[in-house]
Amino acid sequence: MTCPYLDYRRSDEDHEFDHDRPYCTVAEEFVSPMKADICNDRHEFDHTSDCETYPDEQASEEKESGSEAIRADASE
Ligand code: SF4
Repeated sequence: MTCPYLDYRRSDEDHEFDHDRPYCTVAEEFVSPMKADICNDRHEFDHTSDCETYPDEQASEEKESGSEAIRADASE
């Protein structure tokens, strides 16, 4: 799952590009292509645990809802 805080923009107050680039709406800055792998959960990264910018309280909520989904699957 892609991070809900990831956006794609061409410009911010300081930068302007000729194509869309990954932008973190938490840090309010463009992210590097390497970091975008984490934002997009590529290469087995998980944005909730591998990104230091991702809000801790949101990560806890996602992990709880994820474990509830796993429990629901197991009970079916
Ligand atoms: S840098 Fe972190 S918080 Fe920002 S969009 Fe990427 S994964 Fe989400």
